[in-house]
Amino acid sequence: MSIREIREILAREGLRPLRRLGQNFLHDRNMARWIVDSALGGLSFPWHIWEVGPGLGVLTQLLLGKGAEVRAIEIDRGLAGILRDRFRGEDRFHLFEGDVLRAEWPEPALDWVLVGNLPYSISGPFLASLFRRRASFRRIVVTLQLEVAERLVATPGHSSFGSLSVMGQTSFRIEIRKRLPPSVFYPMPKVDSAVVCLEPLETVLVSGEDREGFCAFVRRGFLHRRKCLGKKLGYEERRRPEELGVDEWVEIWQSLRG
Ligand code: SAM
Repeated sequence: MSIREIREILAREGLRPLRRLGQNFLHDRNMARWIVDSALGGLSFPWHIWEVGPGLGVLTQLLLGKGAEVRAIEIDRGLAGILRDRFRGEDRFHLFEGDVLRAEWPEPALDWVLVGNLPYSISGPFLASLFRRRASFRRIVVTLQLEVAERLVATPGHSSFGSLSVMGQTSFRIEIRKRLPPSVFYPMPKVDSAVVCLEPLETVLVSGEDREGFCAFVRRGFLHRRKCLGKKLGYEERRRPEELGVDEWVEIWQSLRG
């Protein structure tokens, strides 16, 4: 979908891109195809997709074209109307109008793939909510602002290493697959973006029912980063939170629980 087409569709419906909803639409076709191929590549058919923030349906159309079943969650009523018209009669497309931060996620038995060019406004809280629940996806391929992507993959001692890194890396193997310049979106965001792929670890470090408590513990540990961890958590530990590896976070959490 070209920038002109995006503008025309929005204008026809009396809409404008809303910054508060992170509405930066992907207009680079090659990039859209690349994202969809990364989401599905190597996974056996059938593909069941949850798409976050489908917008005007750029990724949705490609996913449906590949034969996937797509459940999409879009908060904007105007865009939801456009999507319903665009994919009318397509029985593999299911649209949920609402806030993804309140969504119910699939049961563990189902092999879902989560795809989305995430609205920047919610990418941090959205990922944190996924990590708290360890929602069971076969794979997650999302576009994020580069700075958040770097926090996800950061290792101890790095300035980006924080609670998001620990929460994410205790459940997923995380990889930055590609950097995207602002020019692939309309309107252009102010920052660079990155496509990130998350795949569940074979060995679960913190089990499902413990994740909520573990994540709260990690967040508490990273408050006031400059203080050493022991003081904050009542534990014999002189190092600062950003100096501890992911496995060590799990060990401390387990030893404190007794
Ligand atoms: N997928 C489209 C694309 O690539 O062109 C649009 C991506 S745009 C960066 C983000 C989309 O997420 C917008 O359509 C926006 O309305 C939607 N959105 C924003 N906040 C949301 C929320 N809390 N729940 C669901 N969708 C949301």
